[in-house]
Amino acid sequence: MKLVVDTHTHTISSGHAYSTVQEMAKEASNNGIKMFAVTDHGPAMLGAPQLYHFANLKVIPKELYGVRIIRGVEANIIDYSGKLDMPDEYLARLEFVIASLHDVCITPATVEQHTNALINALKNPYVDVVAHPGNPAFQVDIQKVVEAAKENGKLIEINNASFRVRKGCEENCREFAYRCKENGVRVVCGSDAHISFDVGVFEKVCKILEDVDMPEELVLNTSTEKMEEFLMERKKRLGIGVR
Ligand SMILES: [Zn+2]
Ligand SMILES: [Zn+2]
Repeated sequence: MKLVVDTHTHTISSGHAYSTVQEMAKEASNNGIKMFAVTDHGPAMLGAPQLYHFANLKVIPKELYGVRIIRGVEANIIDYSGKLDMPDEYLARLEFVIASLHDVCITPATVEQHTNALINALKNPYVDVVAHPGNPAFQVDIQKVVEAAKENGKLIEINNASFRVRKGCEENCREFAYRCKENGVRVVCGSDAHISFDVGVFEKVCKILEDVDMPEELVLNTSTEKMEEFLMERKKRLGIGVR
């Protein structure tokens, strides 16, 4: 399966990532990536940008080097009710919102608590996707999370960096992919790049998609049109005027 959209990347603004938006776009263009989302970490992450950074993302061109840039965030889930580290009025201005559990922002607890956090995040109208839900540090009830994504018309991410930085996640990621397929839930693939050279790198993700024989129609990253359609769907969901 050819993936031309990357929905999860970090720029130098994240504090522990090392390339500018321009460098990311250039590298994406060189590697045949047609669209990527800039999803720097939300303010609760150490060294991450503050709220106003996200309010000003509109200055980033919609397209650079022929690559469409989606303005987003990887917001942090900061309690087990699924609360995020950004107020709704900021989330409303973005094109794409990822919600994630990170152990530097919230202490791992029970499977039930992790599951509830992801389910409640998926119920939040501003959230489009939960990232790296296969992280074994935050083990969840996979079926329940997939069902919540389905009920709320949301996405599940298959994260390429997980296989490197989140030890033991492979089995969980495969299970997530399999259950998404079984339940007809759409997935997005994120490189989780923290440097330009990793934008659009999906080696491990592709293996998982193959393993479960994922139908192409459930993978939004195979065409920019599919992704634009989803972004439009988001605007309708939020009642935001179409630009
Ligand atoms: Zn990061
Ligand atoms: Zn993350």
